[in-house]
Amino acid sequence: MSIKRHDWTREEIIALYNKPLMDLLFEAATIHRVNHDPNVVQVSTLLSIKTGGCPEDCGYCPQAARYHTKVEGNDLMGVAQVKAQALRAKASGSSRVCMGAAWRNVKDGPEFDQVLEMVRTINKLDMEVCCTLGMITENQAKRLAEAGLYAYNHNLDTSEEYYKEVISTRGFEDRLQTIENVRKTNVTVCSGGIIGMGESVEDRAGMLVALASLSPQPESVPINALVAVEGTPMENEKPVEIWEMIRMVATTRIVMPETQVRLSAGRTQMSREGQAMCFFAGANSIFAGDKLLTTPNPDVNEDMKMFEMLGLVAQKPFTKVSQPKTVEAADSEYAPLGEKPKWTRPSHKIERNLEASGKK
Ligand code: SF4
Repeated sequence: MSIKRHDWTREEIIALYNKPLMDLLFEAATIHRVNHDPNVVQVSTLLSIKTGGCPEDCGYCPQAARYHTKVEGNDLMGVAQVKAQALRAKASGSSRVCMGAAWRNVKDGPEFDQVLEMVRTINKLDMEVCCTLGMITENQAKRLAEAGLYAYNHNLDTSEEYYKEVISTRGFEDRLQTIENVRKTNVTVCSGGIIGMGESVEDRAGMLVALASLSPQPESVPINALVAVEGTPMENEKPVEIWEMIRMVATTRIVMPETQVRLSAGRTQMSREGQAMCFFAGANSIFAGDKLLTTPNPDVNEDMKMFEMLGLVAQKPFTKVSQPKTVEAADSEYAPLGEKPKWTRPSHKIERNLEASGKK
């Protein structure tokens, strides 16, 4: 029942997703209990280390420079500021820090060196460090690994077919290429997606087929509910119903039994009861902190009250994969190559993205 498969078909996953809810929950919860402690949930903190001004056109993202949103851009944070925030996160129960930079891709140079120093610093605080920096090359992945990076996040977002309705500045295969580059190191892979962008259940299943077919499967899969932000092309999308989120989490748990399934953006729209059902269905991580990059998130104290009420405990760091060693910059084996990740330039246009770019 908990055998990992890489050959799930879209039809099989749709059939799971559409099962009577009690049957789906029972199956997912049983698989969850075989592979994880059901009362342990990881608390992670997401830090936006460089906000806004991104050249990509992801239709859900208020950080894309071309959309007129209220997000205020910020240059790359300093190492000391990141350390202070990581310490605060650790004190409030987080075992993992995920640093996000609104870049299309990583460029070798002083800013990337600064990110490497942040990775070293957080690793030395005995916390899992994750980064989401856009596309990276194999050499850049190796440099991050050497600095002590635990995970690299690069979401597939949705199915390959629907990806063309969301982003026009890069292709689905570019996402897979970065994941492949990360897999050439010991850094674990975090990759998931967003529901509520106007996609169909078939697209949700298609995304899970793509994730489950990766070998190895991602160690971590965030499931986000779209937070529709004013000024983005998706500002008018309807909020995701809690039942859709529960079904998505349960289906993800069944097709990727060993992965850490993360309840990510959209938790402010969910009741405690709804979140409890997601934990029962196999979610075993939340993001803490009052902001998720730029969108609102529940207060840490509220989360701790919820943990107490549900009898959940926060996961300790490095319970799944051991702590990577940190190599100091001076002892690095890898020279910066000054290369850029290659990406495709799809020729398709997305009407709603164009309209949103043109609005003032
Ligand atoms: S999701 Fe990331 S890559 Fe896309 S526009 Fe936002 S910051 Fe840029």
